[in-house]
Amino acid sequence: MSSQPHTVLSWFVRRTRLPLLSLRCLDCRSDSATTGDGRFRVNANGKLLDVWLLVRCVSCDRTSKLTVHERAPVGSLDPAELHGYHVNDPRLVASRLLDPLLARHNRFTLDWTGAWRLHTPPAVPDCAWPVHVAVVFEDPVPLRPDRLIAHGLGLSRGEVLRRVKCDSALRRPTSTGFTFTVMAGG
Ligand SMILES: [Zn+2]
Repeated sequence: MSSQPHTVLSWFVRRTRLPLLSLRCLDCRSDSATTGDGRFRVNANGKLLDVWLLVRCVSCDRTSKLTVHERAPVGSLDPAELHGYHVNDPRLVASRLLDPLLARHNRFTLDWTGAWRLHTPPAVPDCAWPVHVAVVFEDPVPLRPDRLIAHGLGLSRGEVLRRVKCDSALRRPTSTGFTFTVMAGG
């Protein structure tokens, strides 16, 4: 009897938009902010630069500045990066917002609710069990493997526990890729 998996699939976790920020507003006490269209502010003071990413409260529009660079020597920044700050390059907005260091320094967390999708290949009609799946995170969305697998396979979480062998802790949120194997049901 062969234990070779016959079906190998890839799943992709991809953002559909930028996440919101869980960040307490100083005016209205709302705890949700957005980067909106994505704007930086650059301030030069002699040879030193400050760069901020601007975010606004989703309920009262109050603008807050998140520190990206603080008193950085001009020469220490890559010219292409500096240009990106000046033109509000959307890719730079995304990469700064998703950088865990920015979140740590500015004391916010990302709210990914409704901001991502799981892309799975169309169902294989004659799929041979067991099925081997590799989950690839194209964006760092922290997700619990048991919930993601249940969602992707259309199974209850109890069934996931019975039928899935995973190389990652099923209940611990992760945003790094993992693989799992699904055994035949019944
Ligand atoms: Zn507010």
